[in-house]
Amino acid sequence: MQNIISQLNEAQQAPVLQKDGPMIVIAGAGSGKTRVLTVRIANLMSQGVDAFNILALTFTNKAAREMKKRIADIVGNNEAKNLWMGTFHSVFAKILRIESEKLGYPSNFTIYDTQDSVRLIGSIIKEMQLDKDIYKPKQILGRISSYKNSLITVKAYFNNPDLQEADAMSKKPRMGEIYQQYVERCFKSGAMDFDDLLLKTNELLNRFPDVLAKYQDRFRYILVDEYQDTNHSQYLIVRALSDRFQNICVVGDDAQSIYAFRGANINNILNFQKDYDNVRMYRLEQNYRSSKNIVEAANNVIDKNKTKLDKVVWTANDDGPKIKVHRSVTDSEEGRFVASTIFEQKMQNQLPNSNFAVLYRTNAQSRSIEDALRKRDIPYRIYGGLSFYQRKEIKDVLAYLRLVINPKDEEALVRVINYPARGIGNSTVEKLTVAANHFKRSIFEVMEHIDKIDLRLNTGTKTKLQDFVTMIKSFQVINENQDAFYLTEHITKKTGLVQELKKDGTPEGITRIENIEELLNGIKDFTEGQKEIDGARGALAEFLEDVALATDLDKDTGDDDRVALMTIHLAKGLEFPHVFIVGLEEDLFPSAMSLNTRSELEEERRLFYVALTRAEHQAYLTYAQSRYRWGKLVDSEPSRFIEEINDSYLEYLNPVDHGGYRYKPQMDIDIFGDIDKSKLRLSKPVSSAPPAYLKTEVNDKPNIRKLKPVSGIKTQSNTNLFDSNLMVGNIVMHERFGKGQIMSIEGVGADKKAEIKFDVGGLKKLLLKFAKLQVI
Ligand code: ATP
Ligand code: MG
Repeated sequence: MQNIISQLNEAQQAPVLQKDGPMIVIAGAGSGKTRVLTVRIANLMSQGVDAFNILALTFTNKAAREMKKRIADIVGNNEAKNLWMGTFHSVFAKILRIESEKLGYPSNFTIYDTQDSVRLIGSIIKEMQLDKDIYKPKQILGRISSYKNSLITVKAYFNNPDLQEADAMSKKPRMGEIYQQYVERCFKSGAMDFDDLLLKTNELLNRFPDVLAKYQDRFRYILVDEYQDTNHSQYLIVRALSDRFQNICVVGDDAQSIYAFRGANINNILNFQKDYDNVRMYRLEQNYRSSKNIVEAANNVIDKNKTKLDKVVWTANDDGPKIKVHRSVTDSEEGRFVASTIFEQKMQNQLPNSNFAVLYRTNAQSRSIEDALRKRDIPYRIYGGLSFYQRKEIKDVLAYLRLVINPKDEEALVRVINYPARGIGNSTVEKLTVAANHFKRSIFEVMEHIDKIDLRLNTGTKTKLQDFVTMIKSFQVINENQDAFYLTEHITKKTGLVQELKKDGTPEGITRIENIEELLNGIKDFTEGQKEIDGARGALAEFLEDVALATDLDKDTGDDDRVALMTIHLAKGLEFPHVFIVGLEEDLFPSAMSLNTRSELEEERRLFYVALTRAEHQAYLTYAQSRYRWGKLVDSEPSRFIEEINDSYLEYLNPVDHGGYRYKPQMDIDIFGDIDKSKLRLSKPVSSAPPAYLKTEVNDKPNIRKLKPVSGIKTQSNTNLFDSNLMVGNIVMHERFGKGQIMSIEGVGADKKAEIKFDVGGLKKLLLKFAKLQVI
């Protein structure tokens, strides 16, 4: 252990060595906060603290697994096994399962994912006959989520005239009723949504002092990573649990707080010292992750924020290469730049794909990057899009499994009651829903007693409903006797699900069958793993919980070698040797929605800081002059964040914008090859353009706002920005190809090209904007 601790610097050792009491480590990116947590846990254990008494809360379950592995390396597997580690949601879901009956929930409660919640809200809005353009289900869920995370229950809502007035002002006077309905329906279905996992934990700890005492006694040492992004609900849980022993260690960086939009409250970090007595505050300053250029550039950026704690971040690492800035004409060209650069770097330096990450502001941006990577046969993985478990066919199978565990689960039931088709129509389902609401029972219970309730259904329909109930019950019997794999396979056959997809016969249908097979593989893995652990048969309920709380990041085993594509929000805490931050354009990043207030803009800047500090060796900042957004081509300007970095840390790959030029091989790679002309804003039919030599004016000015001289490079005075003075017949010099003669010129402005016959190398067509020729 001593050996491990001595690998830390002195500042890092201090919070590791302080065994008891409340402490906060505030430090910039890459300074070893997560590492300190890991070593601290190992050290506690080596000093005799029982793993059973330690709780560590991390940003992803993957982070928790990795941390556990490192700790196991130090203290041994058996010891580490009993540690409680994971995200807030996964840890407290487990506790709620144990205690759920106190709150009136079955222990097999279902966890609704966002899709389930949105769908339920959609049907409530429909039943209430409200306008879904005003009451948008996703937006409504967002509101409900923020109420829950601020611990505003339905009752509290109705006791608060201000909240009601605010909703009425935003044309949603019936918000409270929807909230109430939603909560009731979830409860009736034996379901909790994501926010409930925190809200109900709070309720549990508040209402039942004996339960609180039990978990306070159990979790004597609590550690929280990424504390800056905890919301109020999470904060209260941590506070309550740590209140007795006060052995609480939180680490975070106010400059990386990026979840305010989801209710994260930066005050949690700022007020920590007020919340506990005798708080020790530690600061780490040395960054071990990134090269000097990256660290300094990130410091430049975050300095622009007014609301921040003063922090120093420095590194003893090498300068490293400068941060490369690349401009492209369109988003697809940006994608090609990323793909070709990754390709070149891999070839030149024999690097694996997993050394590269492409980070973007919004999920939609991944498409152009994906297209380009696919063309180059570079394997990649997208994190955070529609996850595997959210695909339709997978959700269908899971819905049957959910019903086996919890037949009250209304969303699961509605999903598959008539899929594959078994003659139970919408109007029947509506009648069942109304009856269920009336009796305050689940739809399944209504179906079980369909003989005794008069819903004006014909006998045929009643029989079909009874058959469905019998089928689900037969699955429950199988679940008692067989493992989850056997049951799932049986369900896919018995319900006719796979049959249905086979009938489909389209390539999509085949992919869906393959996905179901993949799900079966996953379940097999899970059940085998369970057998290994305790010899028991695979517990379906546990599998479903894992699935409900899994994020894409969690599933990443790191086994396959792929380029990582993800939003910056997801990249928090991670590191990669090469990082591309794409789409650095005003209105995209910073997002147009964030330009109203200083605090929103500052959150965007923190997001940029997070992105940049993921890079260890090389960062690339790229932007496109025009981009397809919402199906339209829109013009864009480079992001202000690029300008906020001191020029000495940057290298512009298209120096034409910056008053000088150097030949950059990358630029020529795609100039003529495959620019998608349909997307080129500036391109016009060649025949309609006047001959180049008749043009005297330069119409297409480059983006002046961003003109910056590149230090040490002189502007070529006789080189016009778009070489509009060039004429057919001119003898010109090109930096790489040497001397040549212009044979023809076509296009206008930024799209102008010349065919040049070089003395060495023959005929080449060059885009003048990039070619930068000198007449001799
Ligand atoms: P972030 O704010 O991005 O979450 P962090 O502060 O949690 O960053 P870590 O991820 O713990 O930082 O550490 C960054 C990198 O530096 C990791 O690769 C880690 O192993 C390494 N590192 C941390 N401390 C040391 C040290 N004392 N000696 C060598 N490497 C270190
Ligand atoms: Mg970290």
